[in-house]
Amino acid sequence: MLRVYGSGFPVRLFVAGMHGDEWRDTSQLLLDVNPPKTGTLAVIPMVDDGKYVSTLDENYYSVSGSPILEAIERLHPEVYLELHSYAKENYARLTDDDRLSKAGVPAYNELKSGLLLGSVSPYIRLGFFSMESLCISFEIQRSNEQSYQFVVELLEVVSECKTRYDFVLYLLENFPKQAIKAIENYRKFYVL
Ligand SMILES: [Zn+2]
Repeated sequence: MLRVYGSGFPVRLFVAGMHGDEWRDTSQLLLDVNPPKTGTLAVIPMVDDGKYVSTLDENYYSVSGSPILEAIERLHPEVYLELHSYAKENYARLTDDDRLSKAGVPAYNELKSGLLLGSVSPYIRLGFFSMESLCISFEIQRSNEQSYQFVVELLEVVSECKTRYDFVLYLLENFPKQAIKAIENYRKFYVL
């Protein structure tokens, strides 16, 4: 299910349909991303539609998420993006300031329209990417049409990023408060 558009540096890998029925909200969005103007974009629109296993579970990437590890080993992406979806009732838990102590990952931050920006699982971030890589996770709010529309715009932005600084600049220009939070979270991640 790996699709590769373009060629050369930088290499970006976008993944969706990570677990359970999330593919219903996320797979088509990745299939609709345009090829990048420069470099490579690889997408796995549907990683696994089986039982829901959290990406924070240490077995996720070696079992249901194994196509992701295979793609990383083959392509060595500099930009890695996970697209997830969440039900509105989980908003408070995902954006909880104590999420780092409770779940081992920093809290998600809302950019707008229920669209959350967060880190990826420490297992994959620390084990498979360098500090210079951009590794982010977007959570779309289910049944929120504006959330879906906004993520289309964000996916276009990330598909043109050459380094993580391009995304930081986009955030600083458009969502300065969330940019500062994201930078703080990134730093916390590396002192875990
Ligand atoms: Zn998910």
